[in-house]
Amino acid sequence: MMSNADPQELAKFSDLAHRWWDPDSEFRPLHQINPLRLEWIDALVRLAGKSVLDVGCGGGILADAMARRGASVLGIDLAAKPLRVAQLHALEAQTSGVEYREVSAEALAEERPQSYDVITCMEMLEHVPDPSAIVDACARLTKPGGWLFFSTINRNPKAFLFAIVGAEHVLKLLPKGTHEYARFIRPSELAQWCRTAGLSPGEMRGMEYNPLIRRYSLTHDTSVNYLMAWRKAP
Ligand code: SAH
Repeated sequence: MMSNADPQELAKFSDLAHRWWDPDSEFRPLHQINPLRLEWIDALVRLAGKSVLDVGCGGGILADAMARRGASVLGIDLAAKPLRVAQLHALEAQTSGVEYREVSAEALAEERPQSYDVITCMEMLEHVPDPSAIVDACARLTKPGGWLFFSTINRNPKAFLFAIVGAEHVLKLLPKGTHEYARFIRPSELAQWCRTAGLSPGEMRGMEYNPLIRRYSLTHDTSVNYLMAWRKAP
């Protein structure tokens, strides 16, 4: 059942889970990029009233924010501790319209095909053995005419330098070993999986970090971190 998951990856996120909502912890980058991706998604789909599935939701930083925009959100992950943290946060912050479940995207696609207006799967594909199977499951979970959002890290020498050497070793934004270069995904590869799953391209953005002002921004440079929006035919 857990075939398309790497237990070591799940353990890495579980071990840190208690610090997920600390904005100065290992998860600082996720807190910092959250408003950027949230605005981008909301502008494209108008989250209010939509049913949203967040795949690989972790501690729920994006899921919670989308629920606060009026969406009805299910966050799924295969790491138990981050899910418990996400649930606890929703209780404490009194966020309504968000639920969490430990289930794989593939299993949920069997159980609830064509059920969601919007699927988000952020900073997750580069931690999975077979990311194309996740993309395919996400496509099956989407309602006709629905939107899908993926974000991950490009694979090229600059991405190695920025996302691993820079982020983990020099600037120490992320713990060493967070990312493995071989698992990074070129936009052309992700696009191929999406097209094979029957999706049509929407928009694409890059995400850049400026160490001088310690801030992220959305750009059109997709050479390191990037986000892609796709649509399922109506
Ligand atoms: N999407 C969240 C969290 C990113 S961290 C955000 O952007 O804020 C990556 C998450 O992917 C972790 O919570 C990890 O447990 C989860 N993950 C890794 N492999 C997975 C798999 N096969 N299925 C579901 N979630 C997975």
